Amino acid sequence: MGEIIKGKPVADAITETLKTDVESLKAKGIEPTLKIVRVGAREDDLSYERGALKRMEKCGIAAEVLELPADICQTDFVKALKAVNDDASVHGILLFRPLPKQLDMEEIKFIVDPVKDIDCMNPLNAEKIFEGDKTGYPPCTPQACVEILDYYGVDLKGKNVAVVGRSMVVGKPLAMLLLGKNATVTICHSRTSDLPAVCRQNDVVVAAVGRAEMVKGNFIKDGAVVIDVGINVNSEGKLCGDVAFNECVEKASMITPVPAGVGSVTTSVLAKHVVKACKQINGIA
Ligand code: NAP
Repeated sequence: MGEIIKGKPVADAITETLKTDVESLKAKGIEPTLKIVRVGAREDDLSYERGALKRMEKCGIAAEVLELPADICQTDFVKALKAVNDDASVHGILLFRPLPKQLDMEEIKFIVDPVKDIDCMNPLNAEKIFEGDKTGYPPCTPQACVEILDYYGVDLKGKNVAVVGRSMVVGKPLAMLLLGKNATVTICHSRTSDLPAVCRQNDVVVAAVGRAEMVKGNFIKDGAVVIDVGINVNSEGKLCGDVAFNECVEKASMITPVPAGVGSVTTSVLAKHVVKACKQINGIA
């Protein structure tokens, strides 16, 4: 039976380090500040927002929310986002996505200055992940997976890793981050032939699929590490991951649970990115 590796100790460790960083910034008269921009009031945005605000408070980071009407037009939205971007007191900007259909992401994604773009909306930050340029900010969820693997001492050098899912939010950037750790990465997707056999060849399997409990025990080789990014609701109405936990825990050496796994680390990564942005903007190494 594998070790259940929870997110909380990882989040707590990141928070402790950040508290010290924030205190020393405040001692210099600098207050790290996050601005959340939310359009409308979707329940999943509100839930993430509550978690983010709580985490910022724990770290000593100031946080404000700009709520915009769900039916806002492109012109007004662009004006509002530009004003947030131009506000010198704001170091990091988180814009909840997807945006309502009337808003055109093609224009919007370039508005936030890459240095303030702490959740990788601007394609310039996505490019930095592919180039291995560490001045950017990977999206918080893939970075949370890496933080978990680091915290629990999983050395990725030379390891075979399967990432199931190839979205720009999770799968692709995560594959690049793992490559940066010298893992040999296989990116799987809905057209991958014999997915269980491909996954079984790997020392680490990361599931970012969006399908409840799709990764079964026969996907996992004995002793593999399993990271479950999925957030789904199963047929009983309970929160579950992309991994069939009860089957996979028997095979894995380590496995993240859902809930209390990857999801609980993302707001700490967000806080880490705000502090990093604040330091970059103020020329502090
Ligand atoms: P997404 O954009 O829907 O992408 C899903 C990926 O899974 C796609 O690349 C798709 O392949 C692949 N896929 C779908 N069905 C498959 C199958 N049967 N076999 C193999 N691959 C399959 O989802 P996402 O935004 O990346 O999110 C993935 C999961 O992570 C979701 O459960 C989401 O709720 C969760 N999530 C969690 C957090 C967190 O903080 N923990 C944050 C973000 C997302 P194709 O490209 O071929 O279609």
